[in-house]
Amino acid sequence: MDNRKKEILEAVAESLSAIGVREVYLREGAASLFDKANEPRGSVPSPEGDKKELLASEAVRCEDCRACTLYNTRTNAVYGDGDIDARVMFIGEAPGAEEDKQGLPFVGRAGKLLDRLLEEVGLRRGEVYITNVLKCRPPENRDPAPEEVDACLPFLQRQMKLIAPDLIITLGLHATQLLLDTKKPMAKVRGEVFDVDGLKVLPTYHTAAALRFPAYKEQIYTDFRKIETLLDEADG
Ligand code: SF4
Repeated sequence: MDNRKKEILEAVAESLSAIGVREVYLREGAASLFDKANEPRGSVPSPEGDKKELLASEAVRCEDCRACTLYNTRTNAVYGDGDIDARVMFIGEAPGAEEDKQGLPFVGRAGKLLDRLLEEVGLRRGEVYITNVLKCRPPENRDPAPEEVDACLPFLQRQMKLIAPDLIITLGLHATQLLLDTKKPMAKVRGEVFDVDGLKVLPTYHTAAALRFPAYKEQIYTDFRKIETLLDEADG
């Protein structure tokens, strides 16, 4: 079984486990499901079909989630948005007021700046996948609490496995320190490319920080200009 199939199966197992399913019996030949992606539509669900359904079911579970206290104050959980086959996945900190209202990530002022910076390096928002460490807005946009990050992390882990991007860009300190498992400040890691369990991770500043400190905008742009080269390298 190749790594891609293994990752999808692991994500399926985690999703089932999260809803209380402890044992699954595979009929003989069931593992060949992944080998039938080229069969006519309607015959056997393709891996991409499974991926779409799994992400949709994760989003529903996220809307119902009460694993931390943030469910009390959210208007909407904000699971993620974008191309589920994206090669680039962006991970920010948490939804803000506008995101909480609309149920979509990066739709406020920081999101508009992200869109502009993406366009400047030839990417459209619809070509990438965008999510946050926390799926619900912390009141007054305070920093995520460690217990909230721990409670929400399984959603992000399954998202990363299912989307399986070639490159992850962490936006801001919280996503960066979580992904890199470090306490280093942004200035020490920003713009460097890290290998995290075989995944390329490029940390940069959060676009919300660039709204407060305009000098960060140029640095984010500098980092975004590395995306094309990094994707070319991933192509081998
Ligand atoms: S922040 Fe995450 S863990 Fe907390 S309620 Fe929302 S979805 Fe659940």
